[in-house]
Amino acid sequence: MSDLYNLPEDHQDIRAAVRELAEGAIKPFAADCDEKERYPVEAQKALIDAGFHAVHIPEAYEGMGADAVATVVVIEEVARVCASSALIPAVNKLGSMPIILSGSEELKQAVLPSIASGEAMISYALSEREAGSDAAAMRTRAKADGDDWILNGTKCWITNAGVSSWYTVMAVTDPDKGSRGISAFVVHADDEGFQVGTKERKLGIKGSPTREIHFDNCRIPGWRIVGEPGTGYSTALATLEHTRPTIGAQAVGIAQGALELSVDYAKHRQQFGKAIAQFQAIQFMIADMAMAVEAARTLVYQAAAAAERGDPRSSFLASAAKCLASDTAMSVTTDAVQILGGAGYTRDFAAERMMRDAKITQIYEGTNQIQRLVMARSLLR
Ligand SMILES: Cc1cc2nc3c(=O)[nH]c(=O)nc-3n(C[C@H](O)[C@H](O)[C@H](O)COP(=O)(O)OP(=O)(O)OC[C@H]3O[C@@H](n4cnc5c(N)ncnc54)[C@H](O)[C@@H]3O)c2cc1C
Repeated sequence: MSDLYNLPEDHQDIRAAVRELAEGAIKPFAADCDEKERYPVEAQKALIDAGFHAVHIPEAYEGMGADAVATVVVIEEVARVCASSALIPAVNKLGSMPIILSGSEELKQAVLPSIASGEAMISYALSEREAGSDAAAMRTRAKADGDDWILNGTKCWITNAGVSSWYTVMAVTDPDKGSRGISAFVVHADDEGFQVGTKERKLGIKGSPTREIHFDNCRIPGWRIVGEPGTGYSTALATLEHTRPTIGAQAVGIAQGALELSVDYAKHRQQFGKAIAQFQAIQFMIADMAMAVEAARTLVYQAAAAAERGDPRSSFLASAAKCLASDTAMSVTTDAVQILGGAGYTRDFAAERMMRDAKITQIYEGTNQIQRLVMARSLLR
């Protein structure tokens, strides 16, 4: 059979392996993690044991060295059964990408192998309470003190804070230079003056802790800066070109899970003496859902590949993929609840969890309004 416009066999093998792992070791705990708002420890262990927790780490740093398409396939397959667990590989990529893109060799050697082995996880800290979409308005400061840096301020909405050992943190080093006065640093959970705040009470992805992180005269050694002073914001934005497709992948996975649930339910649920799947109204909804999922998946893989090869369109494609896939996840999961009727509105089925989980994909790593802004800017340049 021709491989024209098809995923390579290696990628299909990764999909099969992650699907089997997700079905057996992650899915059984997804509802419980949501219900109890607890971290998916079972998923973390299963992903680390199988080596799927951070497949993107290069081989030079003891990682698997998987490409961007393989990475989105892993995230998609985990999200198909548990969106919270999918944030383990996704946020490991988000937190480490600034280091991979711009870090010194010393920093890479100090941090990346610990993520590759699963000994540590890493979070990404850009947002602040008053600086979300307008992230460059951040107030967290870093000042040089001899060979060290001293950080002060608070970052907000940090995914997997409290679980991660490492944090890539953007902070202002030169307040007169706007976004060119922002630098990136790597902070360790054991650094003095670092503290995590209380957990946010969220609508969805309840298994993934979201917290503030605080820096109170937090002193870190000079080599923990990522790249040169003043390059932090451009590194943060370059990172998003690589990771918005991973959020797209999370969204595609959630939507795929909801689609499969809907098909299965429609075949079995009987009303008016026949399966509801026999009603054209239901058939058309299912067809529309599947069509949207296929389109989103294709765009996500294309965007992931474009970022990896440094395609000049990667900024546009990353925003387009994240935006289309997350809007798809929202509409498909809402339709899934509809197809399940009253049952869909209860916690007896995964559809309502998927609908709540889908919502965040339209918000984080830049809201879909911001993605449209990025796309328009790149088209109208
Ligand atoms: C669960 C969760 C996890 C997160 N994880 C992380 C993380 O790990 N690391 C991290 O750094 N951040 C994280 N975030 C932060 C996230 O990226 C921001 O919430 C997001 O970028 C939006 O910022 P905001 O919440 O301040 O909304 P605001 O910027 O206040 O936006 C409010 C509304 O205004 C709209 N808006 C704003 N500006 C414009 C504009 N110019 N044009 C049109 N519309 C506009 C927005 O689209 C939105 O609808 C997380 C957030 C959540 C909720």
